[in-house]
This record gives sequence, structure tokens and C-alpha cells, in this order.
Amino acid sequence: MPEPTATRAPHAIIIGGSMAGLFCGVLLRAVGWDVDIYERAGDELASRGAGIATHDELYAAFVAAGIDLRAEMGVESTGRIAFNHAGEVLGECAMPQIMTSWGFVFRFLRARFPDAHYHSGYTFEDLFEDASGIEARFSNGRRARADILIGADGTRSTVRQRLLPEATLDYCGYFAWRGLFDEARVPTAALERVAGRMAFSATPRGHWLGYLVAGPNDDLTPGRRWYNWGWYRRGDEDALRAHLTDADGRHYPLGIPHHRMHPALVDAMRRQAHEELAPPIQRIVEATPNPYIQAIYELASPRMVVGRACLIGDAAFTARPHVGLGVSKAAEDARTLAAALCMPERATALANWEAARLRYGRAALQWGQDLGSYIETGTDDPVRRAKAEYYRRADVLLVETASNEPGRYLDARMQSA
Ligand SMILES: Cc1cc2nc3c(=O)[nH]c(=O)nc-3n(C[C@H](O)[C@H](O)[C@H](O)COP(=O)(O)OP(=O)(O)OC[C@H]3O[C@@H](n4cnc5c(N)ncnc54)[C@H](O)[C@@H]3O)c2cc1C
Repeated sequence: MPEPTATRAPHAIIIGGSMAGLFCGVLLRAVGWDVDIYERAGDELASRGAGIATHDELYAAFVAAGIDLRAEMGVESTGRIAFNHAGEVLGECAMPQIMTSWGFVFRFLRARFPDAHYHSGYTFEDLFEDASGIEARFSNGRRARADILIGADGTRSTVRQRLLPEATLDYCGYFAWRGLFDEARVPTAALERVAGRMAFSATPRGHWLGYLVAGPNDDLTPGRRWYNWGWYRRGDEDALRAHLTDADGRHYPLGIPHHRMHPALVDAMRRQAHEELAPPIQRIVEATPNPYIQAIYELASPRMVVGRACLIGDAAFTARPHVGLGVSKAAEDARTLAAALCMPERATALANWEAARLRYGRAALQWGQDLGSYIETGTDDPVRRAKAEYYRRADVLLVETASNEPGRYLDARMQSA
């Protein structure tokens, strides 16, 4: 990648103004780069909610940006507890961890990036590179030019599709019902069984997990937080399609709004909750007003640097959510890329960055595949069956899912990645 001239600050265009894009934007500005972020969405991003497990990598990215907010960024979870269908405790363990929310991290980062350089409502369509720079073209007819372009446009990245069309998004053979709602609606007896811990309910072909996160306006006050849960369930492509189709037969392949979910499927899910989940968890599912569906996909890019363009975050690698690494991985990609772009030997630094982050992405993907192995469609292969049986075990589920020490599970996989 050619160096910008020494007489002006180098300029980066970032496509996608979510976690990876904002982390990268804030960090590059901190080291003197001019940065413009182009985001497809209007103002609705801040209201996107999801519970996020935090790790040291996330804090490291905040610290690199001059921010230390460990204590105030979420709800403390002291450990984990797993139930069987009868409500008996299958296992417990201590694991201190802060559970934050997607909206909290987004708003926090967004407030630190200048409005004048955050361009909402810009849908990236294509890029063109020449000897002096790289140009992004948008669906509104606008163009922008810079020294480098960073694709932080998520799992279905258009930047990646332009650069690496061979990288495909693969459906993992299961999806998750999800809920995010007012803690005050959770019946008290059920909340007492699960509060302060990540709770699991084991089922034959999947599992349910839930925990408290910051509520509206980032409120951490007990009684005003949100309860966040996901129920991973096996389902082939036909089942997925049925769940993403509304009562009028309209199919939403990219995700169905909760108010369009077919009522019969929501009712069936609630019935199955009674048949398969522990009693306190049944109460939580019953109390959830707007359950929605998240299809589980994974993706591995063969490269993260192509000419003057780089890929980071979910655009480069999307691992299954069991690893709980989405936001931390985006933060670490951004932090390490910003550091590499400041090195005097930039081409070498970028090559080293790419090699390290490819290894990390592949290891995260492999870990997610292992954790989800027993949820996928059954297999006759004895090795895969043995692996699936191992990851089905409650003690493994408890300690490995969204672990607070991902390095323990990633390091060995990185050696072979
Ligand atoms: C419904 C849902 C629930 C999730 N739950 C969790 C969770 O519980 N825990 C966890 O760790 N992670 C979770 N994730 C994943 C987590 O949000 C991502 O891993 C993380 O946000 C990665 O950040 P990113 O910036 O790489 O991608 P994204 O957050 O996907 O951001 C990509 C951005 O690019 C924009 N964009 C896309 N295409 C274009 C284009 N052509 N032009 C301009 N802009 C574009 C998008 O609008 C978006 O803002 C969830 C994701 C979703 C969608």
C-alpha cells in the first residue's frame, strides 16, 4: 500500500459506522489521520440492542483511545448456572464478567467521533483504485477519495463482495430466537434464580442462555435494566425460511422485523419453551413481549488487505455468536490496524497485521464451529459425533460460551490456523 505524502495528514474512508468502523475512526483520528465514516443507516443505529460480553480486548481498544470505562459500562455477572428441563442445576461456576449492550458501546463511541465526518445515509456501492488513491462510490451518486479505504460494513459487506467475491456466507444449520426486554417484566421468582449470572437451559438440540444488560439510556439501576436472551435451535434452510416469512407470505431473507413474525410460529416457540426449558426460563420466555429471530451464519475472508483496501470486524470474519467475540474482535481489528498504519514501514506492518488477524479470525471461527457442533444436523462421522458430545456437556457449555478469557480457547487454535 503506497504511503500518503508527508505534507498532509493521511486520509481514510471507512465504510460502515458501527462497532468496527467507529473504533477504527476514533483510533485513527487519535493518531492524526483524517477520517470520514460513511454509514448506510440513518439515525436508527443507536437503538439497535443486543447484549455484549466484554473481554480485555475491548478494554484495550478503549484504553488505546484514551478511555477507561470498565466499571461503568455494564452489568456485572458473577458466574454461570445451567439447568436441565426439570429445573435441576446441572452445573455452576464463578466467572466475573461485565455484560454491556450494543447500544451502550455504540453511543459511547459515536459521541467521540465528530458529526461533520460521520456521513449517515450513504450506501457504498463500488470502489476504484489508482496510483494516487482509492475512490468510493455511493448509491446517492456521491464519491469520496482517500489514501486508504476500510471495509467495516458487517457480515454482508459490499466492500468484501467487490474485493473477494469468493468469500461466501454460510448458514450454520440453526437459528436463535432472541429476546431483549424490560427486566421489570421478568417474574420475581424467575429473576431470583438467574440474576447476577449468565443462565443456561440445556435442550437436546441446542441451548438457551440469558443475562441482564444495561437498560434504556444505559441505565444500570436494578429494575430498569434489560434482560437479554437467545435460544439456539436446530433448523434447516426450509425451517429458517418459514421463520423469516410473515403471515402474508412475504419473505425477509436479511431478518424479519419482530412485528412481522408469524404469530403461529411465536406461539409454537412459547409452547416448545414449556416442553424443553427449565421452569424459571419458561417464565422469562413467556414474559418476553417481542421475540425475534437471528439466523446463524459464518464467514471467513481469505485476505484482509487488498491493495489500498482493508477489511475489519464482521466484514472480514463472522464467527458463530457462542464465542461472544463480535464486538471485541471488531475492536481489536481496529486497534491493531490503526497501530499498523502508523508504522514507518507501513507495507510490512500491514502484511504482519493481516497475517496475525487472519490467524485470529480463523481460530475464532473454529472455536464457534466447535461450540455449535452439537446443534447442527446430526452426523454419522464418529469423530464429529464425539466432538459434538463433548461440546454438549453442561460443564463445557458453562465455561467456554462467551468466556471471559477467550485466549484460553483461541491460542491453541491459532497455532493451527
Ligand atoms: C441482531 C444482532 C444481534 C447481535 N448480538 C450480539 C451479541 O449478543 N454479542 C456480540 O458480541 N455480538 C452480537 N452481534 C454481533 C455484533 O453486533 C457484531 O459482531 C459487531 O457489531 C461487529 O461490528 P461490525 O462493525 O464489524 O459490523 P456491524 O455491527 O454489522 O456493522 C456494519 C455496519 O455497516 C453498515 N453498512 C452495511 N453495508 C453498508 C454499505 N453498503 N454502505 C454503508 N454502510 C454499510 C451497516 O449499516 C452497519 O452499521 C449481534 C448482531 C446482530 C445483527
